[in-house]
Amino acid sequence: MNNTQSTELVFELSRPGRRGHRTPPCDVPGDTPLSSLVPERFLADAPPPLPEVGEIDLVRHFTNLSTRNMCIDTQFYPLGSCTMKYNPKRHERLAALPGFADLHPLQPDDTTQGMLELLYEMQQFLAEISGLPAVSLQPAAGAQGELAALLVAAAYFRDTDQTHRTKVLVPDSAHGTNPASAALAGFTAVTVKSNAKGLVDLDDLKTKLGADTGVFMITNPNTLGLFEVQIRQITDLVHAAGGLVYLDGANMNAILGITRPGDFGADMQHYNVHKTFTGPHGGGGPGSGPIAVRDFLAPYLPSPVVVKDGDAYHLSDASEKTIGRVRSFFGNVGILFRGYCYIRTLGPDGLKAVSETAVLNANYLRARVSEGYEVPHPGPCMHEFVASGRGLLRERKVRAMDVCKRLLDYGFHAPTVYFPLVVPEALMMEPTETESKETLDAFADVLLKIKAEDAELLKTAPHTHVVSRPDEVKAAKEPVLRWRPATA
Ligand SMILES: *Cc1c(COP(=O)(O)O)cnc(C)c1O
Repeated sequence: MNNTQSTELVFELSRPGRRGHRTPPCDVPGDTPLSSLVPERFLADAPPPLPEVGEIDLVRHFTNLSTRNMCIDTQFYPLGSCTMKYNPKRHERLAALPGFADLHPLQPDDTTQGMLELLYEMQQFLAEISGLPAVSLQPAAGAQGELAALLVAAAYFRDTDQTHRTKVLVPDSAHGTNPASAALAGFTAVTVKSNAKGLVDLDDLKTKLGADTGVFMITNPNTLGLFEVQIRQITDLVHAAGGLVYLDGANMNAILGITRPGDFGADMQHYNVHKTFTGPHGGGGPGSGPIAVRDFLAPYLPSPVVVKDGDAYHLSDASEKTIGRVRSFFGNVGILFRGYCYIRTLGPDGLKAVSETAVLNANYLRARVSEGYEVPHPGPCMHEFVASGRGLLRERKVRAMDVCKRLLDYGFHAPTVYFPLVVPEALMMEPTETESKETLDAFADVLLKIKAEDAELLKTAPHTHVVSRPDEVKAAKEPVLRWRPATA
């Protein structure tokens, strides 16, 4: 992928007068002064300094740029916790049907019955899969689902005179969004320790439960890819203390059709439709993070929800206790649509097979990776597992990040690195159900090969990419999100 041409900026390709398009001639009558149509102060003195390029140069420029990034359609992408499964192309064709794609969110309900019916059914599917009967499709990502559900919990506590419930308990293996959402929703986050097996430490949990417990947020299977086998005891303890149980359901990939959060004691959960149900994701969205809750929390759900009235569907803002809108319009309908297609295509048996295969794939890869890397927590795992590169660091001063960077040279996307925090030099791998045995073997073979490679080669990897090691802190803290003309 040593593509020198693609490093050229489109502005450097610019030649005065060169065009890739021709706008139709102006049909405003010649004697109409522009200032009578547009107020004088909005008129530009000169055309904007845009690059002037021919169509073929432009197409090549962007096509070359598009191949610099890895994506699930070109590479195995075992990014743990992100569930980078294949996104069926059929969903794209269906989502592009004009009857869905051309809808405007402000159209009256009686002209959008098809989409509303589909969203209503999606609410029902998500209720059935979670075992939690009331659903809001609005949140636009997993993290926003967490926030919305915690605002629902806060509204419930206010309504029932329990405002002393100010604490949200979060295991130390949790995704960073959990304590962040708790703080944003006005709670204080309290960490609960994991035990040596990587599961919630019940003794530590007991010392932290009390009259001030609002919500216990648990991820199950947790981010180590382990099923919290004491989940019933945990949810009973939280309920006995008067708290609510929140399930971080970003990764439902191991339990679809096998167990349901509502059945093991959760009161609320979010879904990541873009992970579990194949919304294309990566690079920041769009996502979809619907929430499902028990009946007694339903009145507080974000509005509107889709309701069915006889044969007609409409958006209802009817609940007086709703926390209100958490997003403009109605959520990321395009991603919900793709998730709907996925669920309808597979059906209950198909979804169960997804989970069985995802777990089988993860355990196979775990066994192969264990041939050369430490996997600190005892198996079997669920949809993912976490290996540790600490042996490499100790023996050869090679970091987990170096292994990840080197994987790019071999054409594999890296696993999630340095998360969860409870594993030093963490390499978190999630193969998903859509990968073949050949792909898993090829990836494991490369990981084992890298382990024996020259340390210097690893520390300077990747060697085959246009961009090698960007300053990630600077990229996060001072992102350049907008082009500005050099002259301005
Ligand atoms: C991805 C993920 C989230 C956050 O979801 P976003 O859609 O990225 O906001 C939360 N918890 C877990 C366990 C996750 O894997």
